[in-house]
Amino acid sequence: MPSSPSAQQQTPSIDPRHTRFKMVVRPSPIHRWGVYAGERIPKGHKVIEYTGERISRRETARRSDGPLNYLFTLDDYWTIDGNVGGSGAQYINHSCDPNCHACIVRGHILYLALRDIRPGEELTVDYRFDHNVPKVPCSCGAAACRGTINLKKEPRQPRKLTRGKKSKRTT
Ligand SMILES: [Zn+2]
Repeated sequence: MPSSPSAQQQTPSIDPRHTRFKMVVRPSPIHRWGVYAGERIPKGHKVIEYTGERISRRETARRSDGPLNYLFTLDDYWTIDGNVGGSGAQYINHSCDPNCHACIVRGHILYLALRDIRPGEELTVDYRFDHNVPKVPCSCGAAACRGTINLKKEPRQPRKLTRGKKSKRTT
């Protein structure tokens, strides 16, 4: 079993089982590590699956209490922790003007290309943090940068990426 995996000490890499495209992890001007396309990725294609340990809401609360985490909300209850068994997609940085978007299909988090991606481009996705959680400053550098990774205040997003799950619970 994983012995306290430390994202800081491991050399990040991409698990080729979860993507059919070449990509590499290397330092990013946005934040720490980033993932870069090693070849052209056509619009609409699956870029990579975001994998990791599936954890409950309670465990999510416990693990999110740190400076660095790789937690991805799957639905109202489950979270994927990319720090444990992550495909490498957990190193894909946030951008307010991303070239990928996340799509949840039958419990799997897939990153799809929003447009054609050139070799050497950094892959990015909009993390869409809620506006009512602590603000995280954004340094994506996009012309349309919101300034924070959080979304601007607006009615609760209809979570259109989540399918087949009713969002009754709110906390
Ligand atoms: Zn930004």
